[in-house]
Amino acid sequence: MSFNGKVVIVTGASSGIGAATAKAFAIRGAKIALVGRNVDNLKAVESDCKAANSNAELLLIPADVTVDAERIINKTVDEFGQLDVLVNNAGILAYGSILDIDVEQFDSLLNTNLRSIFLLTKLAAPHLIKTQGNIVNVSSVAGTRTFPNTSSYCTSKAAVDQFTRCIALDLASKNVRVNAVNPGVVVTDIHARSGMTEEAYADYMRRAKETHALGRVGTTKEVADTIAFLASDEATFITGATVPVDGGKQAMCPR
Ligand code: NDP
Repeated sequence: MSFNGKVVIVTGASSGIGAATAKAFAIRGAKIALVGRNVDNLKAVESDCKAANSNAELLLIPADVTVDAERIINKTVDEFGQLDVLVNNAGILAYGSILDIDVEQFDSLLNTNLRSIFLLTKLAAPHLIKTQGNIVNVSSVAGTRTFPNTSSYCTSKAAVDQFTRCIALDLASKNVRVNAVNPGVVVTDIHARSGMTEEAYADYMRRAKETHALGRVGTTKEVADTIAFLASDEATFITGATVPVDGGKQAMCPR
């Protein structure tokens, strides 16, 4: 699976699944625009990508996906001359019952996890049509399954799944593919950033052995490799797919 000469944008490349995705594309020869707000983290990921492939061409774009979509696309195309793959990975998580949460949480999650994907997709589409490229969105098992106290997040990811399928149809006649991955629990900073305490996280990880059919959580590499596959020329007949990378979590049903 080679991405030699291909240009890839990875949003949320400064941490977790996005960082592993940047590395997966770097190993396979892509030119990569690394997008995130934390510049120190972006630089650390740049070093990891260089360590994985010293020839990797990397462009750091410190940016907020909720406000900088145009700059992200333009800077990438100005620097690399084209765009082949857009990975919409940046995302946030927050918990709370409908009795407790406020509309600010809802707006914030929908803005980051969904609205930014709309904008980046719209702006990237003309470039992807030129290269016959494709899009991979990072959704979640929360897109296909429901969890208590997680309504804003689940709603945002369910919308990402439906958006993926709709845009796949919009762009199919242009031979631009659009897919998503739906990870189960993966060890990253996202849970701590959502405000989950260390104790609650440890308990969540213990329970994850039972909530995933394979009896374990996933790794960032397992998700990143699936993203790279969907973006590759080995997946040219796959579009509109939402692919679980979740150790069987979405297939399970409590008894
Ligand atoms: P992390 O918290 O480790 O990484 C999130 C990334 O998103 C960071 O690079 C962060 O960058 C970026 N980001 C968040 N908001 C913005 C913004 N406004 N502008 C630019 N970048 C932003 O989490 P994960 O790696 O776990 O999450 C990646 C994706 O995977 C998310 O969409 C998440 O919903 C999804 N996912 C994760 C699962 C898990 O268990 N970890 C399970 C299922 C799905 P910075 O802070 O530098 O801006």
